[in-house]
Amino acid sequence: MKQYLMALDQGTTSSRCMLFDRKGRIVSMAQKEFTQYYPQAGWVEHDPMEIWSTQMGVAREAMEQADISYKEIVGLGITNQRETTIVWDRETGVPVYPAIVWQCRRTAKDCDRLKEQGKEAWIYQKTGLKLDAYFSATKLQWILDHVEGVRERAKRGEVLFGTVDSWLIWKLTKGKVHATDYTNAARTMLFNIVEKQWDKELLELFQIPEQMLPKVHDCAYLYGETDATLFGGPISIAGVAGDQQASLFGQACFQRGACKNTYGTGGFLLMNVGETPVFSQNGLLTTVAWGLNGSLTYALEGSVFVAGAAIQWLRDEMGMISSAEESEALARSVEDTNGVYMVPAFVGLGAPYWDAYARGILTGLTRGTNRKHIVRAALESLAYQTYDVVELMEQEAGIKNLPCLKVDGGASANDFLMQFQAEILQAEIQRPGCIETTALGAAYLAGLGIGFYTDTEEIKGNWQKERSFLPVMHEEYRKSKIKGWRAAVEQAMQHPN
Ligand code: ADP
Repeated sequence: MKQYLMALDQGTTSSRCMLFDRKGRIVSMAQKEFTQYYPQAGWVEHDPMEIWSTQMGVAREAMEQADISYKEIVGLGITNQRETTIVWDRETGVPVYPAIVWQCRRTAKDCDRLKEQGKEAWIYQKTGLKLDAYFSATKLQWILDHVEGVRERAKRGEVLFGTVDSWLIWKLTKGKVHATDYTNAARTMLFNIVEKQWDKELLELFQIPEQMLPKVHDCAYLYGETDATLFGGPISIAGVAGDQQASLFGQACFQRGACKNTYGTGGFLLMNVGETPVFSQNGLLTTVAWGLNGSLTYALEGSVFVAGAAIQWLRDEMGMISSAEESEALARSVEDTNGVYMVPAFVGLGAPYWDAYARGILTGLTRGTNRKHIVRAALESLAYQTYDVVELMEQEAGIKNLPCLKVDGGASANDFLMQFQAEILQAEIQRPGCIETTALGAAYLAGLGIGFYTDTEEIKGNWQKERSFLPVMHEEYRKSKIKGWRAAVEQAMQHPN
């Protein structure tokens, strides 16, 4: 009998399911988008029931497509949009309020208040997170404060909290298991990543009754079995990790110093820093990479707010390109940007600049500038922003000269961008055959959890390079390009507010 691993990839805009074989090759895949709700400016919600129904729908569809029965699926892994917060009734399984999505800014003022009270550094030392509305703590507190009767019911143990992984585990086991993994717990801002437990002082600060929290386990762990009615028979739920951590795992970044960057709408760079957490002085996040065999591996995480979105902007707002793919040929059709730099600080700048008030800028325009130069400058900006984060990470982790960067995400398909990235980083860029690394990571974790793989060595052996990009640029030229970029960033930060 053939044996497969199932990955449920519950993202921000769609639910996906992929089936993988032992070698980590995709056997089938199904995807369905679901509704985004914007009830007020800055608010974002999902319907947890729709998350569940689309996720079940695509899981069944992926099985049918490849004619695979539950008996052939040795393990199921879950990876998910992180931080999104759900509270539901323990008896009926009905959510008490829509899911408050990580992007939702409704609790920004609560975070400002806590900053004024001087809590920021204290929270960072415990959780590795910046005090921000992204994380679950203030969202959960909001539900407890605003939905009538929920706080009392939480105290009586009648309602439960979970991030999306917990919600899916609960639904998949028909309410038998209320659990989460270390990576998702680490994004709630309630979990102490050094002590490896829910933090009593944080629970007190945010007034969260402990009995509503899920139990925290390793990422590769036998969480439970899916209810037999769902897939025709039970499947073991054996792997769980948040999306970025799953992608780090799927990229086989098992060594300290190993790094991956995802070029999606935004950019997410994670570096494995080993078994001791590294706390950043410059606003990178410290997070749990994974928990395996009872011990934690940590990561530094830096994000670029606008990456592929800059290319979308050229297409949708500027009409300079008709597809994202077209950007590559246009960029190649000119020798360089003709002195043009673009800083896509549409929503301010993150690490290492941290300027919420910076705004996007195009510099160095002359009478000879054409759209090809601008398109090229936009692509190059993705590489410079990644460079800025990598440089900071190397400093803070005390790791010199990154040997290589593994890449994934939509814009990693752009060969021009990948080559330019190699030049600017002066490091090898490695693009894997399977860029669905998030789902793959969840499948691998499930494979480990069930003992289908004995250790990470086999998984490492599965990682296949599709192509690598090596730097050849002259060092003086590289330095002058970086200098130009930094000058443009300075100007983006001079924006009059
Ligand atoms: P997400 O998961 O964040 O939705 P994806 O990983 O699907 O993102 O990547 C989509 C992003 O990648 C879009 O912003 C798009 O503009 C960009 N993109 C896709 N293909 C290319 C390409 N060939 N060159 C440059 N950017 C691209």
